[in-house]
Amino acid sequence: MRTPLIAGNWKMNKTISDAREMVSSLLPMIDSNEAEVVLAPPFTALGAVNDIIRGTKVKLGAQNVFWEESGAYTGEISPRMLVDIGCSYVIIGHSERREYFGETNTSVNKKIVASLKNGLSPILCVGEKIEEREKGKTFDVLEDELGEGLKGLTPEQISKLVIAYEPIWAIGTGKTAKPEEANESHLFIRGWLKDSSGTESSKNIRIIYGGSVTPDNIDGLMAQKDIDGALVGGASLQVEGFARIINYKSPYPSLSPQGRGLR
Ligand code: PEP
Repeated sequence: MRTPLIAGNWKMNKTISDAREMVSSLLPMIDSNEAEVVLAPPFTALGAVNDIIRGTKVKLGAQNVFWEESGAYTGEISPRMLVDIGCSYVIIGHSERREYFGETNTSVNKKIVASLKNGLSPILCVGEKIEEREKGKTFDVLEDELGEGLKGLTPEQISKLVIAYEPIWAIGTGKTAKPEEANESHLFIRGWLKDSSGTESSKNIRIIYGGSVTPDNIDGLMAQKDIDGALVGGASLQVEGFARIINYKSPYPSLSPQGRGLR
């Protein structure tokens, strides 16, 4: 039985005081459903968010990490520093990092290895561009990203990961993958994990979906057998909408267009 996971990736949004306000309003709105919740604010707000979520079921995640322990790497943050500030998760290989900051499958692999060594659970992002989907290359892209990103990892290490399937054409565009379409990729990923790391661990790895998740489409996505949660960008910035995503399947509140993640 896999515990569903709903993670909010705030990207480069919110000051410390915005973050405090958002999390203080969000916590009382979270139902006691089974989902684990992860908040990934910018580095500057990690400490403030951690102070508020301590003792709740909400966990702290970072949006990036460097693979070295310490040293002359101006501007970088090590896995141990993230653990020190209270993180238990870290997003690795997000498509924005791959596109704008030169992240490659090789750097993703180093970051995953270093994170695991320090007790952080990586949320590895994989997914295809629109032209790759149109050429029927989705599974080839996933195979490359998984094969190179997880190179050299033992089945035990792989079992500690969360994989986020994020079709790039669906990120921040308002175009969500159809639930069945997303599920197909999740099934492929689980099959790949089974072949490379054995049945037991592949059964327990959570594969979550990301790409324009909103309070309107979360229930359909979560109804799919192989979708174990969501990585939410834009809609995680708005308290009522994100609370509804976390409380998926709960009675539907009437939300403003902004609250429904319609920017
Ligand atoms: C993301 O950044 O991981 C993401 C899925 O963004 P959005 O929900 O805005 O599409």
